[in-house]
Amino acid sequence: MSPFSMITLALSKGRIFEETLPLLAAAGIEVTEDPEKSRKLILSTNRPDVRVVLVRATDVPTYVQHGGADIGVAGKDTLIEHSGSNGDHDGLYQPLDLNIAKCRMSVAVRADFDYATAVKQGSRIRVATKYTTIASEHFANKGVHVDLIKLYGSMELAPLIGVADAIVDLVSTGNTLKANHLVEVEEIMQISSRLVVNQASLKLKREAIRQLIQAFESAIPA
Ligand code: AMP
Repeated sequence: MSPFSMITLALSKGRIFEETLPLLAAAGIEVTEDPEKSRKLILSTNRPDVRVVLVRATDVPTYVQHGGADIGVAGKDTLIEHSGSNGDHDGLYQPLDLNIAKCRMSVAVRADFDYATAVKQGSRIRVATKYTTIASEHFANKGVHVDLIKLYGSMELAPLIGVADAIVDLVSTGNTLKANHLVEVEEIMQISSRLVVNQASLKLKREAIRQLIQAFESAIPA
């Protein structure tokens, strides 16, 4: 098959993969391998001209930007951390909010921490997070000085052992915070996943990509 007729879709395992499957089905695409049962990184579909590559969630924008994939699905959090809050940068086009993998980006603290006093204009707060762009912008808008502590996981631990006053993290059910005696004190933004498209692919494979976008759009959950 000519490389100009193959469409490569970048997805991350887990929630984004699972919640993208119904959208693919609407486009007549069925992934024929189960990523939980195989270690393969390139999955075939029922369509010879469509394949799925599995990458880390934070790498989806990078693969699409560099043309390793024509399209991908990435969380709003990941996209902001990748290219800033203005979005469409560097060969990445974001045509659709897919309304999947929904959650919120929030600030959480220990129950005994006085957040209202800590975020008075001109004050200083220590924040542990993986989402440094979102966190620094949020506190800058409030006029609060922030000492950011970049972590890659288990953020909940940082306030418990005195490394940070607060965390900025994704919250879905709130169970993780509750289990660690943290309370959500502020929602920064609602998060969902978006379709991202490589701008060169959009030109070179216009018709195939237009059809995919249309099919996805028709199947976006309410
Ligand atoms: P929960 O206990 O349901 O509030 O989920 C919180 C944990 O799941 C945190 O560790 C989050 O980083 C992670 N999480 C929740 N929703 C998402 C999502 N849509 N995408 C990625 N991680 C998520």
